[in-house]
Amino acid sequence: MSGGRVVDGEAAAGDVESHLRPQTLDAFIGQREACANLRVFVEAARARGEALDHVLLSGPPGLGKTTLAQIVAREMGVGFRATSGPIIAKAGDLAALLTNLEPNDVLFIDEIHRLNPAIEEVLYPAMEDFQLDLIIGEGPAARSVRIDLSRFTLVGATTRSGLLTTPLRERFGIPLRLAFYQPAELERIVRRGARVLGLDLTADGAAEIARRSRGTPRVANRLLRRVRDFAAVAGTLPVTAAVADAALNRLGVDAVGLDAMDRRYMRCIADHYGGGPVGVETLAAALSEQRDTIEEVIEPYLLQQGLLQRTPRGRVLSPAGFRHLGLAPPRRTADQLNLLGDEDAADD
Ligand code: ADP
Repeated sequence: MSGGRVVDGEAAAGDVESHLRPQTLDAFIGQREACANLRVFVEAARARGEALDHVLLSGPPGLGKTTLAQIVAREMGVGFRATSGPIIAKAGDLAALLTNLEPNDVLFIDEIHRLNPAIEEVLYPAMEDFQLDLIIGEGPAARSVRIDLSRFTLVGATTRSGLLTTPLRERFGIPLRLAFYQPAELERIVRRGARVLGLDLTADGAAEIARRSRGTPRVANRLLRRVRDFAAVAGTLPVTAAVADAALNRLGVDAVGLDAMDRRYMRCIADHYGGGPVGVETLAAALSEQRDTIEEVIEPYLLQQGLLQRTPRGRVLSPAGFRHLGLAPPRRTADQLNLLGDEDAADD
């Protein structure tokens, strides 16, 4: 498992993230296109006094999906309730959530691709007609009841939009895909985080942390807190690029933000499978990692950085990936390269 990775985009239990979360669309840094569209839809819905259409937020962990869902509720001036796909075990759990919503409220379902299919069926009429069809009782005494719901906005978040069933995906009027952040945007996030934490951070110190944050605000904030710890103990304030660099090196975060887990993954492909292609299941077994962790947490950033390729025959380390490990890329014949090809965007 990747628990405890310092560059992990997953939220850690008990993480003190809440006071670093931006509260309004204006304070939300980056994702300009998604935010601009959202602003229009929110304003229009508010002007009509209606619930906002259902929103689907997709993208790797830590990019701001939960934050945006909360902002939507605040900008709409409505209540916010949050749950997560795997937590909803029975149709009754979902019914309890839905019947307690006030008109126009936001219901946030994280990891919506992990919703049980039987519960998804209950969600369809709720999303479309704001009605709930429930079976009460069992056997001959069972009867079906229909409950009218208040109009509400479902905000779904997923790290794997490719795993969503088509009927569910089609019920979201506003699909928004979040992308990794640019270094300049992360720099603003790091500077904002330092202000909130009361940390003395120089401009080049912020740039150094931003550059090594895997394009992910949650990672940026986490690295910032760890760098703060090192600086506080060593008494090296303000935090300059040199101070940040020393702290990040000690954390095993390299110049482009990869950590020991990323390098172990890349080395496994290079050393044991000649650079690939190798299937994700094989890699999961070789690394004793869950396939989901590999696909959702490790691979997206390596793909985005061009260090890895996903092909129909499996994962392939790119020449840049080999060079990052300090290895010479293998020479592939034209035939081998043709065979590899790039995978269709099958999922995500
Ligand atoms: P996700 O739900 O996609 O996993 P979150 O919404 O929980 O991600 O965001 C993770 C952390 O990153 C939050 O605590 C928040 O402080 C920070 N964050 C996310 N997006 C932004 C942003 N655009 N500007 C500033 N901080 C952000």
